[in-house]
Amino acid sequence: MAEYEMVIGLEVHCELSTKSKIFCGCSTKFGGAPNTHVCEICSGMPGTLPTLNKSVVEFAVKAGTALNCEITRKNKFDRKNYFYPDLPKAYQVSQLYLPICRNGKVEIKTSEGTKYIGIHEIHMEEDAGKLVHDPYTEKTLVDYNRCGVPLIEIVSEPDFRSAEEVIAYLEKLRDTLQYLGVSDCKMQEGSMRADVNLSVRPVGQKEFGTRTEMKNIASLKAIARAIEYERDRQIDLIEDGGKVTQETRRWDDEKEMTYTMRSKENAQDYKYFPEPDLMPIVISEEYLEQVKANMPELADKKKERYMNELGLPEYDSDIITGSVALVKIFEKTAEICGNPKDASNWILTDLLKIANDSGKPVEDLDFRIESVGEVIKLVNDGKINRKTGKQVLSKVVEENVIPEEYVVKNGLAQVSDLSSIEPIIKDVLAANEKAVGEYLAGNEKNFQFLIGQSMRSLKGKADPQAVRTVLQKLLDEMR
Ligand code: ADP
Ligand code: MG
Ligand code: ZN
Repeated sequence: MAEYEMVIGLEVHCELSTKSKIFCGCSTKFGGAPNTHVCEICSGMPGTLPTLNKSVVEFAVKAGTALNCEITRKNKFDRKNYFYPDLPKAYQVSQLYLPICRNGKVEIKTSEGTKYIGIHEIHMEEDAGKLVHDPYTEKTLVDYNRCGVPLIEIVSEPDFRSAEEVIAYLEKLRDTLQYLGVSDCKMQEGSMRADVNLSVRPVGQKEFGTRTEMKNIASLKAIARAIEYERDRQIDLIEDGGKVTQETRRWDDEKEMTYTMRSKENAQDYKYFPEPDLMPIVISEEYLEQVKANMPELADKKKERYMNELGLPEYDSDIITGSVALVKIFEKTAEICGNPKDASNWILTDLLKIANDSGKPVEDLDFRIESVGEVIKLVNDGKINRKTGKQVLSKVVEENVIPEEYVVKNGLAQVSDLSSIEPIIKDVLAANEKAVGEYLAGNEKNFQFLIGQSMRSLKGKADPQAVRTVLQKLLDEMR
């Protein structure tokens, strides 16, 4: 059997996080009651005219700049004509001839090393509505809330050779767009959707094989599974003397297989023509400079700065900068406790564990982020010990308690006042005469035992250093 390699190109749609839609003032908020974020423009009433939302252009330019694209200084919209019940105008305003960004590249890292994936183009377009099948009436209903929500579509070159590369790229895109504040990229809410174009060819062959396209797969895990399945399907087909047909296939995540959805349409089928109701968009040098000047620090730069200026290990920097939510928590925590290393230790060991136990990703936790730094400060100032600190942090994440208040209310503050510790330790010594005698006779190990007994009597609330000091003093007096 010949050896095959995969060739994959991705089309990724991301909903932009603008407040209003691309051509009208309706809200883009996810999850509203059906057909409540709709007006005559986004529901496609005849005679209405679109007005372009400026932020959409700004967000697209930011995305293109971060993905190393050339910005098309004069770009324009085109109409893509097709009928579907979720598209009331029977056309989608998109960009075919002059997309806003072209010729970009993205660096990805996989177990094979570093690689660049080419970006063919990024274009702006509007989203369609959603069909909802109602099991009670057995009818299909339509929700137009999503109609006119702005999208960018990022089209890659066919540069991927493995599922691992595809996943690394999607994670990189997601991180970048989240950092920019351009899209929240939640695959589970459909604000980031990937179409996977895949073909196979014998290793060594220059020409690409015939590709199929798998649309709108709902998670990274499902994408990886769909890729493996589709690769094997195409190879088996070719090995059996068959031919791959160019078509759109749907991935069924439960059955773990793809099946034909429709034969592949091409640009001609959509009868594209220049959008007559919108002016071309001219991007001036000045505008471009201004947008670039307002771009936030992205993951790679941030990671370097964490390592070089804050002295974090590469491992820590990598994990923190891999999530915008963690970056926010980390930076606030470091600021409050005044020690980036402590901040990163507490976040990576304790906070992530608490998040993990609660079954929620850090992004979905809902607590006052200042609290993390405050807990660390209480520990570093000796007001509570580390063990209590961990408990308080759990309460912060689970119940959003305010650390200082919680410590006072529950009497968790540690006793570091030597005179109040002393009588309790005296009692401990009296109760452990044998161990004390052995210690005085030269058995050093018993010191640790007596520390343990003292901590227990103090119910874990004492400052261990204070206990040591007092115990040593009392024992020395007995010599
Ligand atoms: P269309 O607009 O019809 O979907 P494009 O030519 O714009 O087609 O390509 C869409 C995506 O498919 C791009 O990401 C491209 O890299 C990828 N692609 C094109 N040809 C192949 C192929 N033979 N194998 C795998 N991917 C391909
Ligand atoms: Mg396509
Ligand atoms: Zn509207």
